Amino acid sequence: DITRPTVESDTELAFEGALRPASLAEFVGQKKVRGQLELLLKAAAIQGRTPDHILLAGPPGLGKTTLAMIVAHESSRPLRMSSGPAIQHAGDLAAVLSALVPGEVLFIDEIHRMARSAEEMLYLAMEDYRIDIMVGKGAGATSIPLELSPFTLVGATTRSGMLPNPLRDRFGFTAHLEFYDEAELTEVLRRAAALLGVRIDGAALAEIAGRCRGTPRIANRLLRRVRDFALVHGREADLGTVREALALYDVDDLGLDRLDREVLSTILRRFDGGPVGLNTLAVSVGEESDTIESVVEPFLVRVGLVTRTPRGRIATPEAWRHFGLTRDSGALF
Ligand code: ADP
Repeated sequence: DITRPTVESDTELAFEGALRPASLAEFVGQKKVRGQLELLLKAAAIQGRTPDHILLAGPPGLGKTTLAMIVAHESSRPLRMSSGPAIQHAGDLAAVLSALVPGEVLFIDEIHRMARSAEEMLYLAMEDYRIDIMVGKGAGATSIPLELSPFTLVGATTRSGMLPNPLRDRFGFTAHLEFYDEAELTEVLRRAAALLGVRIDGAALAEIAGRCRGTPRIANRLLRRVRDFALVHGREADLGTVREALALYDVDDLGLDRLDREVLSTILRRFDGGPVGLNTLAVSVGEESDTIESVVEPFLVRVGLVTRTPRGRIATPEAWRHFGLTRDSGALF
């Protein structure tokens, strides 16, 4: 499933690396966040201190990792990358923190998945550049303080609501990344096409921009599939080619992918449009509720196909129309 950003092959990662904007000026869209980050970095530079800790929140593929790299690059600081799932014990975090060089930018992706035991260590580290290392057990246990180099933590999360308040409060700045509009995505694609040497016309770019779930990562990935399709069939990358290539990869005219459609059709057909609770929905489609909530749902809500209510998720009239169903015909299945 090419629109799912979870499994990355090496070529996919190399490709992403090659297309990553290196500076805030090259970073398309997210104007507000760019302005805020720019100010924060400039203020730190004037005062000659490490920039405040930064939390980047939003669905996958919107540029969180890219922004972390840009923060390091723009402030001429080294970058170290880690992730929540890699920090399963406080000791894992202690190893990362104690190896930081002065001023380093530490990026922790999926920070909401870090072990609880590491979280408390991180509070102290963020606030005082210090950690306490526990040695021994029971009554004889003592803690040895360890001074750290000043650093800037850049945390990324698809679930800012899942972060404990004390952690959230320790970030000097939280950026909520939004889905990109079509004009911005067209710009992302134009830039990528130029970098990849793909000849593609404006109408074709606009078509991809409208069908990539508002997500630069997916836009770039679809561009590659279109390029492949044009190459294999000896065709120009024009509007017709884009339509055929995207049909081949099951991307529908709203850009919904297989899982989006499965979630929607489950709400419509099995639950007669809802309301249905998140966990029931997750079990019905055989996905983790986390994926439904942080990847699928934000986009369906944004395009107005689903609304969240206290009683559960409800499909909107647009969703019924998109599937060509009415309430009664849906309930028959
Ligand atoms: P995240 O960390 O939020 O999952 P990434 O930073 O890894 O997303 O971005 C995924 C890909 O999308 C990157 O390879 C980058 O090329 C592209 N991308 C993301 N945001 C932008 C942007 N604002 N402008 C241009 N390209 C972008």
